[in-house]
Amino acid sequence: MAIVNVFWEEAIKQVKEDYINDSREEDFQWWIAKINFIESQGTTIYVSVPSKFVKDQLDARGHTSYIENKLLEISGDKFKIEFKIEVNQEQRKIEIEDDEPVIINQTKEVQNTDISNTNNTENRKKSRLEEDYSFNSFVIGDNNSFAYNAALAVAKNPGRAYNPLLIYGGVGLGKTHLMCAIGNHCLANGDKKVIYVTAEDFTNEFIESVGAKTTQKFKNKYRNADILLIDDIHFFQNKDGTQEELFHTFNALYDSFKQIVFTCDRPVSELKNLADRLRSRFERGLNVDLSLPSYETRRAILEKKLVSMGMQISSDVIDYIAQNVASNVRDLESALTKIIAYTELVGKEVTLEIAQQELRDKINIQQNTNIGAETIIKVVADYYGLSVKDIKGPKRSKNVMLPRQIAMYIVSELTEYSTTEIGGEFGGRDHTTVMHSVKKMADSIKVDSGLDSTIQILIKNVKEYKNWQLV
Ligand code: ADP
Ligand code: MG
Repeated sequence: MAIVNVFWEEAIKQVKEDYINDSREEDFQWWIAKINFIESQGTTIYVSVPSKFVKDQLDARGHTSYIENKLLEISGDKFKIEFKIEVNQEQRKIEIEDDEPVIINQTKEVQNTDISNTNNTENRKKSRLEEDYSFNSFVIGDNNSFAYNAALAVAKNPGRAYNPLLIYGGVGLGKTHLMCAIGNHCLANGDKKVIYVTAEDFTNEFIESVGAKTTQKFKNKYRNADILLIDDIHFFQNKDGTQEELFHTFNALYDSFKQIVFTCDRPVSELKNLADRLRSRFERGLNVDLSLPSYETRRAILEKKLVSMGMQISSDVIDYIAQNVASNVRDLESALTKIIAYTELVGKEVTLEIAQQELRDKINIQQNTNIGAETIIKVVADYYGLSVKDIKGPKRSKNVMLPRQIAMYIVSELTEYSTTEIGGEFGGRDHTTVMHSVKKMADSIKVDSGLDSTIQILIKNVKEYKNWQLV
């Protein structure tokens, strides 16, 4: 179909004009200009791009669908664009000459990103799983090896190993990734019905089904799953009706040995306004936590991401990112994306100076934020559903005492306040009270991993709260 070639060229020409008229010429140069036409078969057009990163960006930024629409406009046919990754030879030579170990997988030079098994693709679409989230792409470190192994055991033996499995930890630490890895593994190894849903979507869908009088359909859908993955269950707090429905769904699946996996941003014991019978279901089976990755793990994650993108950046730049972006894996990835985008734009390796320049904003905010006791007290109070006044005031009930001690501990960890100053911030308490609280928390977290991860989550919330205010 030589004529498709002509359609393609015309489409790209017109897309370029559109982008220029729309003052998006830079977008065109950055992304679309990197596409090379290879051939067409029927209504599929095969093109190549220099990396998976470019392909993902073309999709995510809507350029791919824009071109497909343009093709439809011109030809009257619905064409589908399929990408192949062709690593640029010139660039690879530079990478290999670098004295760092070469970790590029040689067999990956041309990689078809198309999934050939349509059946699997269909199942995957139905399950709403993110397909890149696999066990293979997950880097194992001290912070996550227990969770990883538990998830793998569940994937290999669903419904039998640990049921339910609950993975908890702060934002951006890999909960969704591990959960989807279980789903993807089960899809690839058998004819299992996997459903992935966020607690928020589950809730909305349930409420809609009540309104539309289709609750039976809703029940059938979730109770027929072999593997039900519900992400971010902290969303169920205060949702009484949905909790009730979930309770029954849980029982139906559990009794027939179907696997259930949950994720949550905190330990179950910290969830508020949750029916006891549901809480006890969440705590049954196995609860595992994800904590912050160490420097070594951060570095390994960056290296793995680079391999999967077919990219390489110099070792001192990787080091710089790993050392300075410690908040979570998501931030680590976005720092890397920024550097890669730069590399792709200028077509040569990023130096340490450029990396420092490019990431200055991100890193400064992380390091130099001056966090005060006020912020910490507010974040801790919010987390426990208390007011700032409760924390600072005289109340001595257990539900206020613990959050107060935690807040004092975090202030002592994150600020330079003396114990006398901390006492002052907490309604004029004596410095010995502060010393006692701080020591008590420091001792407790050594033996109480639930408390330890709660404090980690709070510290992260404090930093995020501060960043958010600065933006
Ligand atoms: P959460 O659900 O805990 O907020 P995600 O699962 O969405 O976090 O992870 C955030 C990003 O970090 C994702 O792109 C994920 O692939 C990546 N990620 C997290 N942990 C790891 C890891 N150990 N190895 C590789 N990538 C990771
Ligand atoms: Mg998530």
